Amino acid sequence: TSSRPLSETTIVRRKTRPVRVGHVTIGGGHPVVVQSMINEDTLDVEGSVAAIIRLHKIGCEIVRVTVPSLAHAKALSEIKQKLVETYLAVPLAADVHHNGMKIALEVAKYVEKVRINPGLYVFEKPKPNRTEYTHAEFDDIGEKIRETLEPLVVSLRDQGKAMRIGVNHGSLAERMLFTYGDTPEGMVESALEFIRICESLDFRNLVISLKASRVPVMLTAYRLMVQRMNELGMDYPLHLGVTEAGDGEYGRIKSTAGIGTLLADGIGDTIRVSLTEAPEKEIPVCYSILQALGLRKTMVEYVACPSCGRTLFNLEEVLHKVREATKHLTGLDIAVMGCIVNGPGEMADADYGYVGKQPGYISLYRGKEEIKKVPESQGVEELINLIKADDRWVDP
Ligand code: SF4
Repeated sequence: TSSRPLSETTIVRRKTRPVRVGHVTIGGGHPVVVQSMINEDTLDVEGSVAAIIRLHKIGCEIVRVTVPSLAHAKALSEIKQKLVETYLAVPLAADVHHNGMKIALEVAKYVEKVRINPGLYVFEKPKPNRTEYTHAEFDDIGEKIRETLEPLVVSLRDQGKAMRIGVNHGSLAERMLFTYGDTPEGMVESALEFIRICESLDFRNLVISLKASRVPVMLTAYRLMVQRMNELGMDYPLHLGVTEAGDGEYGRIKSTAGIGTLLADGIGDTIRVSLTEAPEKEIPVCYSILQALGLRKTMVEYVACPSCGRTLFNLEEVLHKVREATKHLTGLDIAVMGCIVNGPGEMADADYGYVGKQPGYISLYRGKEEIKKVPESQGVEELINLIKADDRWVDP
């Protein structure tokens, strides 16, 4: 049998170039960045500022806002100003949903990153018979896109700001659709076309996304993108997300299936979980995915058995109590086990263990070492005392 040291189970991330977004860096080996988007109307300056601060305080490292009109772009100048004056310079990303360059150019003055959707750069009239585009037609439109995009690219380049080329499966441009079909290939080619325009203007501060609402589609698109970038010698970081994931348990599972699968393969430098819930609900999901994969450790890792007929105490209740008492600590692993049936190894190398010993009593462990047996009623208190004695406690 072959054995593999634990250190070799760490995810090896794809090498990407660092892309600066204000004081945050995406890619280049930096921790995977967590982002989300406020759902306030950007014209509501006070409301937007409050929402941005709320999100940032709970760990949203880049906050996105939508900019559907020039008035919204101008409102962002006020939002940015207020943030700088009253709070801090949270990196902002602006979603520009139109190919209206005026909006993008205006907003590029106030935010650190502009997101554009290549699918919205449409210059052609719909083809009546869904016929394919000739090479000449294809290139001609490509040239128009280039002319339109150039001022924004130059502006972002000269300001040292970033751009996300955010392709969505649901909004591919018609000419891509007819040429490559409604496929991951079409999504990838769409991104590559915009990357080439940026590169020709010596702008490489780019992050790429290829979101879809169906997990297998987004997985294939991102993997194909990585393959194509490798072939082309490109090293742009990727922004991962499953669009329209919905809400509740399934929304979280769907997001995790898509984002987590890619992260486990070393793909992805920033993530957004899109839930049909308050944006604040997205942030813990992001951090949980990253923590579960060992990519970021921002909270206590609880190891707990599922309980069974041998369980010596109410595991659900005790786990809840232990979590409430210790969740503010970071960097610790705490195991809560109903019994020690297969030895302390089952506690997965946790720093501390709370283990059923005999009816009414539990044992506290430091690593694999049993430290003391205490009545169950004092278990949580004694666990805290042990952590304090080791100088690993901080008050909440
Ligand atoms: Fe049951 Fe003990 Fe295993 Fe928990 S650790 S599931 S109580 S055998």
